Amino acid sequence: KDTDIMAGVTFMEKTFLMVKPDGVQRELIGEIVSRFEKKGFQLIGAKLMNISNELASEHYGEHKERPFFGELVEFITSGPVFAMVWQGENVIATARQMMGSTNPADAAPGTIRGDFGVTVGKNIIHGSDSPESAKREIGLFFNDSELIEYSKLSNNWIY
Ligand code: GDP
Ligand code: MG
Repeated sequence: KDTDIMAGVTFMEKTFLMVKPDGVQRELIGEIVSRFEKKGFQLIGAKLMNISNELASEHYGEHKERPFFGELVEFITSGPVFAMVWQGENVIATARQMMGSTNPADAAPGTIRGDFGVTVGKNIIHGSDSPESAKREIGLFFNDSELIEYSKLSNNWIY
């Protein structure tokens, strides 16, 4: 559904975020969820899951010719991930800023990768990089019935 009416805001953008296996093992699910909650974004879907090789290859399809593709698929399937859909104004770009640069060595302090990651292969979190990838990735990981539209009173104090 593309049009929500909330506190006068008529379009609520959605993004796909995922705590990777390293973030789950490092017990960062709560910390990461908390950052997006406190920012003012709204969680509309979430699940702990194992990713199949097929789903991993589809999700990271844009990187299939890269030298690190095999390593990437092996890593993302190595343990459970925490998959989420968040919504809010400009959530796609803002979540990317909150995540920080792909390589944690370049990620600013205060960002998730800057605060918790060290190497590019274990950089804690995935986030969609555009409206097209958000739509594609949400569809890959979630059924419509797993996304919950609900009104949140704090939206009146955010928008
Ligand atoms: P993102 O959108 O910031 O996650 O970055 P990309 O889409 O460019 O890459 C996807 C994921 O591949 C990154 O989050 C990294 O975990 C991984 N990755 C990117 N570059 C490298 C690399 O040079 N080596 C390894 N091992 N992994 C990489
Ligand atoms: Mg990417």
